[in-house]
Amino acid sequence: MLKLEHIYKWYTVGGARSFVLKDINLEIAKGDFVSIMGPSGSGKSTLLHILGLLDVPDEGRYFFRDEDVLSLKEKKRKELFQSQVGFVFQSYHLIDELTVYENIETPLIYKNLSGSERKALVADMLDRFGIVGKKDLYPNQLSGGQQQIVGIARALAVSPKLVLADEPTGNLNTQQGEDIMRLFKQLNDDGVTIIQVTHSEKNATYGKRIINLLDGQLK
Ligand code: ADP
Ligand code: MG
Repeated sequence: MLKLEHIYKWYTVGGARSFVLKDINLEIAKGDFVSIMGPSGSGKSTLLHILGLLDVPDEGRYFFRDEDVLSLKEKKRKELFQSQVGFVFQSYHLIDELTVYENIETPLIYKNLSGSERKALVADMLDRFGIVGKKDLYPNQLSGGQQQIVGIARALAVSPKLVLADEPTGNLNTQQGEDIMRLFKQLNDDGVTIIQVTHSEKNATYGKRIINLLDGQLK
């Protein structure tokens, strides 16, 4: 499904390079379920953003479904993201000015769907995640956990082939967290490729394998 070759990412601080990712080589097959673990600041979110086509490395090659995505124009990469990837952000990234309903609907607008098809999909997500009663609220009227649920619903509304989730249960209670992990497992059983960042050993056991990042390198 995807392959990273010699990926480097750095920031220039006081004229010197500060490396966030160093020589990352990684291959992930279609249908895999991978958990990325590692201490805070080790580069997990940066790696996930690169995998999700939301950020680009400073060096290296990235093949997504055999396509050399770093040589694509930004617009094309964005289209690829919108059509293939469901991304659950660590800090939710909901749009403050939009209601829960509208936030979940947003990625569907890029799909070739009729208004009624969109409505049905959003209604399905609201129902599935038990947030029908919240649909007209704005993000700032929700708890952190509820915002996280909306972020997950938005990511999954598009039926993505690849789900990337950055600590998706970080703000959920134990029961909610388990529900989300079971949902991911079910999606994976149905053929969706999943890559999650997690600090939880237990969450990691829902996946098929674990990769460890330390100081920007795979260990
Ligand atoms: P993790 O998700 O594992 O906690 P991140 O990928 O968020 O790690 O960050 C990895 C490192 O990159 C951190 O040390 C962070 O300070 C650094 N970093 C992230 N963004 C920037 C930036 N814009 N400028 C400088 N350093 C950054
Ligand atoms: Mg992070």
